[in-house]
Amino acid sequence: MDVVSSALDSLAGLDTSPAESLSEGEATVLAEKLHPVLRALSDAYYVEDSPLISDGQYDKLFRALQAIEERFPNLKTPDSPTHRVGGAPLDKFEKVTHPEPLLSLGNAFDANELLAWYDRIRRGLSDTIAEGEKPALVAELKIDGLAIALRYERGQLTLGATRGNGLIGENVTAHVKTVRSIPLRLPEKAPDYLEVRGEVYMRLSTFDKLNDTLVEAGGAPLANPRNTAAGSLRQLDPAAVAERKLDFWAYGVGETDDGLAPTSQTEALVYLNDLGFPTGPNHARFEDIEDVIAFCDSWTDRRGELDFEIDGIVVKVDRRDYQDVLGNVANAPRWAVAFKFPAQEATTTLLEIEHSVGRTGVVKPVANLDPVVVGGVTVSRATLHNAEYILSRDIRIGDRVMIKRAGDVIPQVIGPVVEARSGKEVVYLEPTLCPECKEPLARLEGEADIRCVSASCPAQLKRLVEHFASRNAMDIEGMGEKVAAQLVDEGLIAGIPDVYKLDPNALLALEGFKNKKVDNLLDGISNSKGRPLHRLLFALGIRFVGETTAKLFVAKYASLQDLGNALKDDLKGIHGIGTETAESVVAWFAHEENRAIVDLLRELGVNTARLPEEEPADVEPNSEVAGKTFVLTGTLPSLKRGDAQKLIEGSGGKVTGSVSKNTDYVVAGEAAGSKLDKAKELGIPLLDEAALLSLLS
Ligand code: NAD
Repeated sequence: MDVVSSALDSLAGLDTSPAESLSEGEATVLAEKLHPVLRALSDAYYVEDSPLISDGQYDKLFRALQAIEERFPNLKTPDSPTHRVGGAPLDKFEKVTHPEPLLSLGNAFDANELLAWYDRIRRGLSDTIAEGEKPALVAELKIDGLAIALRYERGQLTLGATRGNGLIGENVTAHVKTVRSIPLRLPEKAPDYLEVRGEVYMRLSTFDKLNDTLVEAGGAPLANPRNTAAGSLRQLDPAAVAERKLDFWAYGVGETDDGLAPTSQTEALVYLNDLGFPTGPNHARFEDIEDVIAFCDSWTDRRGELDFEIDGIVVKVDRRDYQDVLGNVANAPRWAVAFKFPAQEATTTLLEIEHSVGRTGVVKPVANLDPVVVGGVTVSRATLHNAEYILSRDIRIGDRVMIKRAGDVIPQVIGPVVEARSGKEVVYLEPTLCPECKEPLARLEGEADIRCVSASCPAQLKRLVEHFASRNAMDIEGMGEKVAAQLVDEGLIAGIPDVYKLDPNALLALEGFKNKKVDNLLDGISNSKGRPLHRLLFALGIRFVGETTAKLFVAKYASLQDLGNALKDDLKGIHGIGTETAESVVAWFAHEENRAIVDLLRELGVNTARLPEEEPADVEPNSEVAGKTFVLTGTLPSLKRGDAQKLIEGSGGKVTGSVSKNTDYVVAGEAAGSKLDKAKELGIPLLDEAALLSLLS
C-alpha cells in the first residue's frame, strides 16, 4: 500500500536527528511528505483500529516532524499532525464535545529526555516553588488501551465517550456499560457531577483465550490486545462488547462540582478508589527524579510479568496547583510525560519461509525477513512456530508482517498487515519432505509439529552433535554449529561416538582446517572425556532429560550402565522425576544401538560414571519449602510439570491445583492462564523455574 511504502521510504532516509542535518529546503520537502503519511497512519490506527506499521516506527516519523518544526518554526502549520490528538470520531456514533479536552502525552524515550522534561518543569515552576524545593512526582504504569471519559450525574453513569480528536469524541455509553469494572452507580458520598478519565483495555489472558476460541472456530486470530480493545468498543454492538470481557482502570478526575475534589494526583487515585473505580497497580510517589528513572528502568524489565500490556510509565507532577501553573502545550499537558519503553515490535517484509530440522526431527518454519531494527537489535529471522500458526493467521510469503521481539525471547512473526497487500503474496504450503534428507515428513498424533522420522537424516545428527558439544553439555571448544555440520556433511561423524574417533589427517584435509585449528579441536574433544556424568547424560539428547533432571538421575545411579538397567518404576520413584521422563529414559536405553553408543563411549575413554563431586550430599529439610503450598501453571522451560511437583514434594512442600489465599507460591511458566491472574489478584509470590530451583536448593 502507498502509505506504508512512503512511510518506510521516509524511515529509511531518517537518521536520529534529521532536523540538524537538513537544509530548510530539504526539511520543507520532508515535512510535506510526512504530513499525509502521518495522517493516513493515524487514521488507520485511531479510526480503523488497524495499524499499518508498528508504534515504534510511527513514533520515529512523528518525532522527525516534531524536530523539523522545532528547528524551522515557520514549517509548523496549523494543520500539522503534531498538533493533533487521536483521530476523527466515527460517523456512526453520536458526537460528544468534551467539557475539558482529552489530551495526548509528550514522550521521553530515555533517561536524558526524562531529565530534560524535569528541568523544564522546574523552570516552569521557578516563580511558584521555593528555591531548592523539588516538585513531587507520581509514576504510573501506562496501560495500552483506549482513553475513555465517564460522566456521572447524581451518582449515575450518564455518558461514556472516547477521546476522539481530543475535543470531540464518540458517545459509547451503551458500550462502556457492559464493561464490568466501570461502576454504573457511585456511592452516596459521590458529588452531583463528576467526570472520570481512564483507559479501557483487554487483559492478555482474556486476549489469548479469545484468540484460541477464534482459531478453534476456524477464524483468524487478532493482532494485539490494544487494537482489539479499541476495535471491540467502537465497532461492535453492546451485546458483543460484553462478551469481549474488557476491563477499565481510572487515572484522573476531570470536571466536577465537588468542593473537596483532590488537590493532587496521589489524592485523586485514592478518591477514585473510594468511589469504586479500579486504578492502575504499582503507582508510586517520588521526591527525586533519579528514583523515577529507576522505577522506569525496573518496569522496562518487568513489564512481561503483568497480565496486560503497558507501553511505558506516565510521570506526573503530583500537586494539582502546580499542574495548573504549568498548563498545556497544543496537544499535551506540560505537567506529565510518557516515558516510552524501547519498541518491541516492527513491521517488515517476509521474504521467504525456510524450514529447519531440530535434533528430535521437528521441522519448524522460520521467517526470513528484510532486516529491521527492533529495540536496538537487527532482526532478519523470526520464528513462525508451526504450519497451523501460519495458516490460521493467513501469513503469506511477500507479506508485510508485524514482528515482536520481547526480552530474550526469540523474535516471532505476529501476523500480516493485510491492508498492505499487493496481490503478489504467495500462500504458504506445508512441506511434505524433509528439507535436508528429502524423506517424507510425518505428523505424530496430537502434535502440531511435523517431524522427519528418518533415522539417517543428517540434519538431526548435526543438531545432536552441536547439542552434545555445547557449553552446558560436553563443552567441546571448537565444535560449534558450523563445525558440527561440516563434520557430518564430510562424513567424518555418523554417530556420537565418532566425535572421539576423529583422525587428525582427515581433519587437516577439510576446508578451513589448519594445524592449529585441528590441534585445538582435538584438545577440546580430549578434555571433554572427563566431564561429570550428568553432563554426558544431558549431552545424549534424551527427550525430557534437561540439566536438572540429569543431576537427579546421577544422584541415584552411579553410572550410565546402572541407569540403563533401571526399571521405569525405579526411575519414577526418584523425587523430581515424573512418568513421561521415566518412560523416555527407559525407551532410550531399550534401543540396542543406544546401549552400544554408551559402551563405545566408555571404550573410547569417555567418563560414564559418577564423579566424587557428584555424590549426593546429605540433605537437610528445606525450610523454605517444607510445609508450603505451591500451585504450578503454564509450561516451564525445562522441567516437566510432574518433575517439578516431585521436586517440591521431595523437599516437604505440597502441590495443589487451585490458587487460594492459602497458596504460598505460584510457579508460572509460558502461557500461564487464569491461575496466574488469580495469584496476582491475591498478591501471592510468583516464581519462574529458576526461582523455584534456587528455592529448592
Ligand atoms: P499516548 O498513548 O502516547 O499517550 C496518551 C494516552 O496514554 C492517554 O490518552 C491515555 O489514554 C493513556 N494512558 C495510559 N495510562 C495512563 C495513565 N496512567 N495516566 C494518563 N494517561 C494514561 O498518546 P496517544 O496520542 O494516545 O497515542 C500515541 C500512541 O499511538 C503512540 O504510542 C503511537 O505510536 C501510537 N500510534 C501508532 C500508530 C501506528 O501507525 N502504529 C499511529 C498513530 C498512533
